[in-house]
Amino acid sequence: MGFTNSICWLILLIMIGFADNPALSDSSDIYLKDRHKMVDSQIIRRGVKDKHVLEAMKKVPRHKFVPANVTNYAYEDEPLPIGYGQTISQPYIVALMTELLELEQDSRVLEIGTGSGYQAAILAELVDSVCSIEIICELADRADSTLADLGYKVDVICGDGYRGWPEKAPFDAIIVTAAPDEIPQPLLDQLAEGGRLVIPVGTLRQELKLIRKENGKIKEMNVIPVRFVPMTGEIEK
Ligand code: SAH
Repeated sequence: MGFTNSICWLILLIMIGFADNPALSDSSDIYLKDRHKMVDSQIIRRGVKDKHVLEAMKKVPRHKFVPANVTNYAYEDEPLPIGYGQTISQPYIVALMTELLELEQDSRVLEIGTGSGYQAAILAELVDSVCSIEIICELADRADSTLADLGYKVDVICGDGYRGWPEKAPFDAIIVTAAPDEIPQPLLDQLAEGGRLVIPVGTLRQELKLIRKENGKIKEMNVIPVRFVPMTGEIEK
């Protein structure tokens, strides 16, 4: 091996060493490997295919959306507590629901149940306009600042999502992350023609439903059984 060749090898080995060292490659994201593993083993393996959704799941720092005491579990295959008796959904469920929305860059999206803001961040990776409503104002405020700190532009308000957000309607996609026992009519009304609504419905037994509005008619499909926190507020009356 000539001298130049040896030098090239040496440089290459040093570069590999650097790339392997998380402290030197990206010190701010020590969870990058965990996140990629999460996407491969929990999400792709279960059949989510939309490459934009997979990219978003690989990119959004989920650990920044969970309370400090569970940061180390952020990439586990489970929902996690976020305070106020609420939870951030399991990563696979976030990915599946997002895929079902069939988003385009210019889709107008409404989320009911901001919670930690994680699902909203995934949506904001995929589309230009995301609105999100959270009934617990402390969670809405916290999610709003987490999202802003990370540079995501999401309109978060504190309120009851049962009535949707009429001033911003119609929406091409609506995602509900708390379970009502029946689909709120205002959300169906605020779906654009061709729009998709993804929503868990039920009390003890819940079913994730995909609803489409086609030629003004509502088409409903069951996707999988799920377990979400109950929708609160007006729906309970
Ligand atoms: N999408 C969230 C998961 C949140 S859990 C995330 O990525 O972290 C469901 C959330 O729905 C809870 O924060 C709960 O407070 C909220 N919620 C329940 N009923 C609601 C309602 N009627 N309107 C808006 N938010 C509601």
